[in-house]
Amino acid sequence: MRKRIACVTAAILSISLGVSGCGLIPFEQDIPFLSSRAENAETEKKTEQQTIDEQDADTEKSTEDTQQDDGLNEGEQTDNEDTEEADEKQENPMEQAALMAAQYDYDGAIELLKSQPDYESNTDMQSAVSDYENTKATCTEYPLEQITHVFFHTLIKDTARAFDGDSDSNGYNQYMTTIDEFNKIIQSMYDKGYVMVSPHDMAVINEDGTMSRGSIMLPPGKIPFVLSQDDVSYYHYMDGDGFASKLVVDSNGEVKNEYIEDDGSVSTGDYDMVPLIDTFVKEHPDFSYHGRKGILAMTGYDGVLGYRTDIAYKTGKKLQDDQKKFLEDHPDFNYKQEVKNAKKVAKAMKAEGWEFASHTWGHKDVAATSLDDLKRDDKKWKKYVAPILGETDMIIFAFGADIGSWEGYSADNEKYEFYKSQGYRYFCNVDSSQYFVQITDDYFRQGRRNLDGYRMYYNPEMLSDLFDVSEVWDSSRPTPVPGM
Ligand SMILES: [Zn+2]
Repeated sequence: MRKRIACVTAAILSISLGVSGCGLIPFEQDIPFLSSRAENAETEKKTEQQTIDEQDADTEKSTEDTQQDDGLNEGEQTDNEDTEEADEKQENPMEQAALMAAQYDYDGAIELLKSQPDYESNTDMQSAVSDYENTKATCTEYPLEQITHVFFHTLIKDTARAFDGDSDSNGYNQYMTTIDEFNKIIQSMYDKGYVMVSPHDMAVINEDGTMSRGSIMLPPGKIPFVLSQDDVSYYHYMDGDGFASKLVVDSNGEVKNEYIEDDGSVSTGDYDMVPLIDTFVKEHPDFSYHGRKGILAMTGYDGVLGYRTDIAYKTGKKLQDDQKKFLEDHPDFNYKQEVKNAKKVAKAMKAEGWEFASHTWGHKDVAATSLDDLKRDDKKWKKYVAPILGETDMIIFAFGADIGSWEGYSADNEKYEFYKSQGYRYFCNVDSSQYFVQITDDYFRQGRRNLDGYRMYYNPEMLSDLFDVSEVWDSSRPTPVPGM
């Protein structure tokens, strides 16, 4: 069943790609083959519109009712329990300061130690402060226009299942990265001095709404970069193809993945980017600037983080075939519990330094989609995704598309004005060049480089600042990697 759907989707996609081409941006290559929802939406646009309007009407009719109905705004009490657990993990001030300094927050480390009641009599603290001051003095401000941004999709855990020759295999080979490759890439980048920063370090929004350049201070030899991952929904179409099935918070309060083994048993571990990076940073805290991790670009149509939180799973209206099948296979599905679990994971991730961006609710190609459709789409993100992940001022465009040319967003750009009016100030596309950073009084914009099978196979030389493809390449990939 699933394969047939994927086949149809792929067919629709090949047609639409053939028609629309890849003209605007040379390297727009998000995951077109997973955009069934967005692409098929063309045909269901009318009913779509109707349903949203109905849902909106419901909300307006009785806010009280609908909030309960959505199940999206509950579970605040359990959140408090989680906070208490986290508080117990407090380290002593010297350890805390050492971690802050390792992550280049020398001011924070110094302030923390100096604020201790016994600082004046504690020579260990005084000597640590002196060390931090010395290291801080070696730091220089890194040029913001020379900060690269790399991204991944969901990582492949089992290459035999991903590259089993079914209709999705080629797409995985082009757009995905294996866990083995990812680990080698991250190790190489760490060895070269790379440090994860956030776009929020590169540009800040002032109280008056204007934007200013940020400041990233690093010791010699350190190179800031931004990390992101797209589509961390564990879409239905990926079931059984060798990917993790969801993110969870384990009994230690750590974010891990669940993975469904061949025999149906469930393993918990580091099976995708988030827990892999969390573990890496525990061992190498200096890979993170001030505790920053990466940004997850999230759609909403299949839910988030492996949880089926979209409203369709509750209402049962307008379900896609694979969503219907999911509900049939899970008769005990509890929407409220699903939302609650997703919120718990999102909260734990944010506490670990992860950030969330919109990737549009329906994986929209913002260049090809009308402003009205984008407005409807963003409304759904705000209504069904933001209550779980939190509000965001970042949008990472699907398909690597963009709402304007590389030259910048002009004042007469309606799509830009719309997204700005909705609180988005940080915009990312996909661009093959090493650096693509624009910081104006109005917005932050950055291009992202895909570190996937396609890029590694066809343009290894474009990645040499990050890693050596010949040392990273997973030999279990079928070759040649299909062309675009
Ligand atoms: Zn995407």
